[in-house]
Amino acid sequence: MVHFVGAGPGAPDLITLRGAALLEKADQVIYAGSLVNPALLERCKESCRILDSARMTLEQVIAAIEETERDGLVTVRLHTGDPSLYGAIREQMDMLDKRSIPYDVTPGVSSFSAAAASLRAEYTLPGLSQTLILTRMAGRTPVPEREALDRLAGAGASMALFLSAGMLEQVQTALLKGAYTADTPAAIVYKASWPAEKILRCTVGTLAETAREAGISKTALILVGNFLDADFERSRLYAPDFTTGYRKGTDT
Ligand code: SAH
Repeated sequence: MVHFVGAGPGAPDLITLRGAALLEKADQVIYAGSLVNPALLERCKESCRILDSARMTLEQVIAAIEETERDGLVTVRLHTGDPSLYGAIREQMDMLDKRSIPYDVTPGVSSFSAAAASLRAEYTLPGLSQTLILTRMAGRTPVPEREALDRLAGAGASMALFLSAGMLEQVQTALLKGAYTADTPAAIVYKASWPAEKILRCTVGTLAETAREAGISKTALILVGNFLDADFERSRLYAPDFTTGYRKGTDT
């Protein structure tokens, strides 16, 4: 049996209870060494075989799983954040399906959630934005043309950019072709929830310069949008005049 597990953004106590329990019973853990905090591996049994997938191909990962399956043992495939985002789990699941190897998926706290927590920010502020776009700048992995950053930027929504911290000149140019201006608030959150976390608040116009000065080119999320500082309307849900299924408001 294979368990795909979201490790969370870095802090070892941000894995889910279910994920932690699976790590404790695993006979083999294959973890994404470039981003998963190795402190999580302290939960593993002494006898657990631990492999770093940063040094492996997809084929080698599947071969390691097959070996363990032959002995009826349990593999945890540990991915950073939540595995459904840029986790490359689909290709692994497809290969397991072909081999009739059973698996399940345990979600994790994504870095976009951890970054908002570190900033004490809310992505969805009434009157400002009710949409969060999770995306990336096209790099060695292409992005479909209809999802090009300058097109998505047209909505002016709250945005979290993964895998893009090394391309901030291009990010800025694309964002400015959309509804954002050079003054739109932005933030660079490096290693959210790790001891080395850095939070840099800036604007769309100063993203590249801010990252350059701080020497940041990877393991960072780029957040963009007015949710980072402008005025907003308070929520309807908690307004005294608003009736909900749980509370009678003064509007009735
Ligand atoms: N599945 C992961 C994303 C993997 S893609 C998740 O849900 O978070 C790798 C990218 O995620 C990095 O390039 C960076 O943009 C972002 N990232 C992952 N962990 C991060 C962290 N702790 N702080 C900031 N960004 C992080």
